[in-house]
Amino acid sequence: MKKTTNKTNCPLCGKTVEMAGIIHCHDCLKKCFDIVADPKDWKAPICVMFEPSAWAKTSGIIADAIEFFTATKASCSMVETPYGYRVVVEADGYRNGPAGDF
Ligand SMILES: [Zn+2]
Repeated sequence: MKKTTNKTNCPLCGKTVEMAGIIHCHDCLKKCFDIVADPKDWKAPICVMFEPSAWAKTSGIIADAIEFFTATKASCSMVETPYGYRVVVEADGYRNGPAGDF
């Protein structure tokens, strides 16, 4: 991947983002990653359920945050639960990904 410096403003907080390929700033990515990561073991595989309406609002940044912090791609699928449909978001997590150090 070619390294380019892109200067954009974070769509959530307006801060300048200078990392290539990243639209949201580190703070916002971290906040979103904290929602999906295991607080005791952030390198663990990720599997979180969202209500479809909540997922629709945050899917872009959460997928970005997972990729940014774990170097693995998030995948999501719709499942039917006793409480209605939920979006299940899964990723291999940092430890199982290409950046994993065990
Ligand atoms: Zn931000």
